[in-house]
Amino acid sequence: MSRIAYVNGRYVAHRHATVHIEDRGYQFSDGVYEVCEVKDGRLIDERRHVARLARSLSELAIAMPMPAHALGVVLRETVRRNRVRDGIVYIQVTRGVAPRDHAFPALTPRPALVVTARGIDPLKMEKLADEGISIVTMPDQRWARVDIKSVSLLPNVLAKQAAREQGAREAWLVDRDGFVTEGSSSNAWIVSKDGRLVTRPIGHDILRGITRTVLLDVIREQGLELDERPFTVEEAYAAREAFVTSATQTVMPVVRIDGRPIGNGAPGLIASALRRAYHAHAESS
Ligand code: PMP
Repeated sequence: MSRIAYVNGRYVAHRHATVHIEDRGYQFSDGVYEVCEVKDGRLIDERRHVARLARSLSELAIAMPMPAHALGVVLRETVRRNRVRDGIVYIQVTRGVAPRDHAFPALTPRPALVVTARGIDPLKMEKLADEGISIVTMPDQRWARVDIKSVSLLPNVLAKQAAREQGAREAWLVDRDGFVTEGSSSNAWIVSKDGRLVTRPIGHDILRGITRTVLLDVIREQGLELDERPFTVEEAYAAREAFVTSATQTVMPVVRIDGRPIGNGAPGLIASALRRAYHAHAESS
């Protein structure tokens, strides 16, 4: 089946979908993105993803390309045209097209909007979660405003590639003081030796993951002990459990960090239970 992309007002064949060479996203990474899970043909947490998109854009003084409800129509139509039942919808907004100059264009261009959707095999993800993933740690080399979901992802790309080359699926990024910030494309969590859930508090040094936000609700509702505080790599090695969260993976158990087994080396009970509980708390639209 041929894929369809939404590009600046038109649904076009994916293989012919292009943006201008002077799009500022292409030249300066001057843009932001969102990834929203699609489950059983429905968007998961659309409202929160669109709110975060609006916030990222606002931090960069880029206008929303269209109102939230109209964007919702485009998202659903892109999912429908690509016949995605389970997978993701990707949204990218850049400052638009203008003659190359670092400063914002004097004449504000129309923000460029691209939406794509693709299927992901849910059984494959379940198999991965049953096995758990390996991760490796490395220095966090990103800029100081990673709370903005910018398409400027070069340090994340390099970290993920380094992880792959070491046979791992994700990289946990570590700040100068030895504390884990987050994954290259996920938030990082542990269950400490004394059974408490630990994740870094929000700030400019991590992305406020939507999955993280929803999971905090699940944790509160289940009455689990939680500390929003930074944790070290050493603490992670000694943790009972570890896991990552993101829209594409929801809750994904981590069984190995830098080659060391976590807990008994199998997916943790808390992580697995949180994974099962997740969609009962997420919004579906
Ligand atoms: N941190 C980073 C750096 C990410 O790229 C992602 C994935 N978008 C996340 C955290 C998780 O965010 P979310 O739960 O909204 O997918």
